[in-house]
Amino acid sequence: MSRIAEIAAALAGYDPQALTVDGVQAFVAELAASAVVTQTEEVALRDALGRVLAQDIVSPVNVPPHDNSAMDGFAFDGALLDAEAPTDATVRLRIVGTALAGAAWRGTTAPGDTVKIMTGAVMPSGFDTVVPQEFCEVDGGQVRFPMKALRRGDNRRFAGEDLKQGEPALHRGERLSPAALGLIASLGQPTVPVLRRLRVAYFSTGDEILSLGDAPREGAVYDSNRYTVFGLLHRLGCEVIDLGLVRDDPDALGATLRRAASEADAIITSGGVSVGEADHTRAVMQALGDMAFWRIAMRPGRPMAVGLIPREPLPADGATAGNALLFGLPGNPVAVMVTFLAFVRPALLQMMGCHARAAAPPPLLRARSAGPIRKKPGRTEYQRGFVQAMPGALPEVRIAGNQGSGVLSSMVEANGLVVLHHAQGNIAAGDEVDVMLFDGVI
Ligand code: AMP
Ligand code: MG
Repeated sequence: MSRIAEIAAALAGYDPQALTVDGVQAFVAELAASAVVTQTEEVALRDALGRVLAQDIVSPVNVPPHDNSAMDGFAFDGALLDAEAPTDATVRLRIVGTALAGAAWRGTTAPGDTVKIMTGAVMPSGFDTVVPQEFCEVDGGQVRFPMKALRRGDNRRFAGEDLKQGEPALHRGERLSPAALGLIASLGQPTVPVLRRLRVAYFSTGDEILSLGDAPREGAVYDSNRYTVFGLLHRLGCEVIDLGLVRDDPDALGATLRRAASEADAIITSGGVSVGEADHTRAVMQALGDMAFWRIAMRPGRPMAVGLIPREPLPADGATAGNALLFGLPGNPVAVMVTFLAFVRPALLQMMGCHARAAAPPPLLRARSAGPIRKKPGRTEYQRGFVQAMPGALPEVRIAGNQGSGVLSSMVEANGLVVLHHAQGNIAAGDEVDVMLFDGVI
């Protein structure tokens, strides 16, 4: 049985003519699981930003390495703080030295002693509490502060409270964020083992499509999809292979698909996958690969194809799978972006080697709809919207302009997609809705 047929057979209620968004996501996750990148490389820390960690990073040290002060103030033995003391009791201590960040104080102390200490300085041994300097009155060699100003252990950071020696600081599959780079740097590690970048080839199809630089022609539109797809892939950190615009010609389409499969882990096409297409895209995909053509209960983005295209010849340099994963997206520019966000992005993150949490779609934000929205139950709808913070209340989302699936201007204006779930019906003004924010995603 073909892989596509196997996955289809294992999915309850699979109907390629009426798939739900959840059904597509489950199907695509199964496909992607068999094509996860495994080759690794060691890169300099800065170059690891956005890359996927290939191995757990075990902390060779405690971070911070010593107990240290969280404040500028005076360190002392907190045992002398007495919970039963009168509320106006004052603590008086003798200043015996100074501990600077990077220059520990190494003297010995007697009861009643204190050491002036700066933020980040190592705690003198025997001391566990720091009184911030704003509570203190310094008088010659003495410091005074109200007993009730603090409790034992205040303003002391423990050795290893950030990272413990011998424990994983970061897990394999983490997509490295700015915070993760800083964390790795805090271990003193200058290079990072990462998975190789995912290679993704893409091209546009359709005889009515013009490349940039072509003279305008009646009935023809410029190829916008290749640029949105480039942007989406680039943001994901993929290695992109632009195979251009392919004429509606079986030989040209076949040759391009074969080349894409031999060079890339995944292939993204746009256009030509809807039922009743006059062009050859579907037929060529079908002839070359193990394919499924779907009608999805969603808007925009109803037609979509997925499949496996054999890699011939199999590249020697670390292809993981014998097939490249093909996503045949619809042609409409907004449908391309919506299907990418809903299905392709999670699958590519999975193929990049991200762990489940890093590959998960971003959490949906709850917002109040500024106006009514018409919605038919029985399909998932994505409407472009603009979300605004509202002081003291849920954010408000306003539907952005023309929602036609070819209208990119409203996609540019929007900062998120209102996700109207499968079973939901009409929305009244003021109802709560879910929003998928674009920030940091596209
Ligand atoms: P299709 O899915 O091939 O039926 O295309 C649906 C609509 O999307 C048609 O109006 C196409 O002209 C348009 N379209 C297809 N590919 C592109 C592209 N690369 N750039 C802009 N529009 C496109
Ligand atoms: Mg077409």
